[in-house]
Parts: sequence; C-alpha cells; structure tokens
Amino acid sequence: MHHYDNFDTKVIHAGQHPDPVTGAVMPPISVASTYAQRSPGEHAGFEYSRSHNPTRYALERMIAHLEAGSATIDEKDDPSCGGFAFASGLAATTTVLELLDTGDEVVCMDDVYGGTNRLFSRVAARSRGLKIKYVDMTDLNKLGEALTPKTKLVWIETPTNPTLKIVDLAAAAKLTRSKSSSAILVCDNTFASPYNQRPLEHGFDVVMHSATKYLGGHSDAVAGLLVVNDLALAQKVRFHQNAVGAVLGPFESYMVLRGIKTLAIRMERHNATGQRVAEWLSKHAGVEQVVYPGLPSHPQHALAKKQMKGFTGMITFFIKGGLPEARKFLETVRVFALAESLGGVESLVDHPAIMTHASVPPEQRKALGISDTLIRLSCGIENCDDLIADLEHALAGAG
Ligand SMILES: *Cc1c(COP(=O)(O)O)cnc(C)c1O
Repeated sequence: MHHYDNFDTKVIHAGQHPDPVTGAVMPPISVASTYAQRSPGEHAGFEYSRSHNPTRYALERMIAHLEAGSATIDEKDDPSCGGFAFASGLAATTTVLELLDTGDEVVCMDDVYGGTNRLFSRVAARSRGLKIKYVDMTDLNKLGEALTPKTKLVWIETPTNPTLKIVDLAAAAKLTRSKSSSAILVCDNTFASPYNQRPLEHGFDVVMHSATKYLGGHSDAVAGLLVVNDLALAQKVRFHQNAVGAVLGPFESYMVLRGIKTLAIRMERHNATGQRVAEWLSKHAGVEQVVYPGLPSHPQHALAKKQMKGFTGMITFFIKGGLPEARKFLETVRVFALAESLGGVESLVDHPAIMTHASVPPEQRKALGISDTLIRLSCGIENCDDLIADLEHALAGAG
C-alpha cells in the first residue's frame, strides 16, 4: 500500500522497508549462503541464498513496482512481487527460454540486441530446436504473417539497437493475443528504462532488462531483470530462476538498487541531453543523417511520442564519408569514451559494425542498415555544452 504514485518517489521507496533489526534505510548486503533454522523446516522464509536472498529481494521488489505499477503482485503472495534478478541480461533471457518446450515457435524483432540474436540463433535453435522467425515489427502486417497458433514466444525490443526502430507495443500485444493466444509476450525494455516506457501497461506478460545499462546507470555492475504482473507466471519464473540458478549476487543486487535511486533524475538529464545533441547533430554539415525518436524526421516519431515519456541519451548518426572518417571521429573524441555498452552516467561512443554488432552476420548487418559510417552515441549526464563541444571538435577532425 503506497502513499505516493509518482515515479520519482517510487525509485527511492517502492518495495523498500527499513531493516527490521537496525532500522537501516538501505538493505544490508546479505552475503550468507545459508540461514539457520529453528527446527527442521522451521525458518523465516530463508533457506539457501540461491533461492532466497534479502538484498536481491529488495532490488526485485523495486523493479516490480517500477514496471508493474498498480498491478504489482502483493508481497504476501510473492516475496519479490513478480520481479526477478539474474547474473546478466542474457541470463534473464535464458531463463525465459526455459519456459518453452523443445521445437516451439518464436517470433523475434529483426533488430534485437546482438547477444539476444546469438543466444536464439546459435544456442537455443540448436539445443532446444526452437524455430525462430525474425521480423521487422515496425510493420505490424509482418508480425501478423509470422504469428501462428503454435507461436509460444514473441520477443520485442523497442527502441532497437542501434537503428532505434519503434514497435507499437499496444498494437503488437493485441495482434499477438488474437493470433497466438498461448504465446508469452516479452519486451526487452533496456533502452527505454521504466522511466520512459512500461510495456506491462500495454498488455505484455514479461519485461526484461539488462540492468547493466540505464538501471544500474554507473557502468559498474552486470545484471539482468525480469518483471511479470501475473501471479501464476511469477510462480513459474520463480521456479525456473531457482532451478536454472543464474541468480544475481547480493553485491550486484545492492549496486543496481543504489543506481535505481537516481534513475528518475538521470533519465530526465539523459532525455534532455539526447534531444539537444540530436537536434545539434542534425544541423551539422559533417553529418549525413541522425536517427533519434525525438526528432520529427524519425519515421515513428508520432508513435514514440505516444508510448514514451522521453527518448533517452541514445543517438545514432551517419557521418559523411566512409570508414576512415568514422575511425578518425572515434579516435578524436575526448569526453565520449570509445566503448561498448550504454546507459551510464559517462558518455560513450560505439562503432556497431566493428564493435557491438560484429557478431551479426555481414549480410544481416547490411539489411539492417548498420554501415561503416553508422556511429552510436550514449549521451551521459555531463554538461551538455561540453558534450557538444567534444562532438564539434571530433567532427572537425574527421572531415
Ligand atoms: C546489453 C543488452 C542486453 C544483454 O544484457 P547483459 O547484461 O549484457 O547480459 C540485452 N538487451 C539489450 C537491449 C542490451 O543493450
């Protein structure tokens, strides 16, 4: 029972209780692997740390409240209210795949995170015989054609990485329900964060996060999260989280929870900086094209405005010239660090064709438009003037 409903209050308090013994306002990092029982089977709900950990529960309840809002499962029914933490984003995704049976049909967004594509195509297709179709769900007709009554998982990412395509969450959910009533509908909400977009409110079953990115926010922890808002599904995920065992440790649980406390003010700044840098880049002579959902030139700008509060610090642009110009730009930036990952307080720049998306086959990269001149920015929360000055200097150096 909350006495508040605003997101920026929730990120501080939702699902949190002062420590019952000391009153500590942050949960202790609870490292014990096991818990003493009064008599065999008589305990306070904690038996073994893979199955039950109080620091992990604190994080799990927090993300459940942020994503599921008023539909959150009550703590009396489920100790973490339908939130689940894993050792990485991919560990969370792997655990979702365990909900399927051998040979099941999967429909997946074409432009998903490279590691998701690799896990589906190069691991699960072989080890579980999953039949995976990749479709561009910005065209819902294509999603409609791919869905069958045998589809058991629909995996959506929006905005996508790095081409920032937007899928209509409410329409995709409705279409999936009508054609594939037994499918589990999952949205990877890593890029948007729950500050900007909450897929469960649009009818999704599961939200997945790489908490390594915006949720952790400080580039100092690798973690994955799942949230569901249906108790029966929560019980299934709980069983599999424990049975598969890819759980998040107590230290990382604490780090991500700490990061989330500032999610609202960080996202506010990421959104503002992203918008300003995207507008600035789109007027620069050394830039061919800017892709940012907050620009009217983005093909799904209207949809983005409808389902997102803001458009994050992620910007994709095409530099004029070729690989030599792109390389020179990437070597010249001084505030932006040339590195993989995203969503931290510090600004990063990435060359997807050589770095993050090298695992995507070249033909598929070409089809997705990931060329040698495509550059991805993750704008941090530094002073925006300094970021623009850095880009100005690097673009001058490149061209
Ligand atoms: C990073 C990322 C993942 C994978 O998460 P890890 O924490 O690196 O395992 C999944 N989806 C998206 C969109 C990502 O950016």
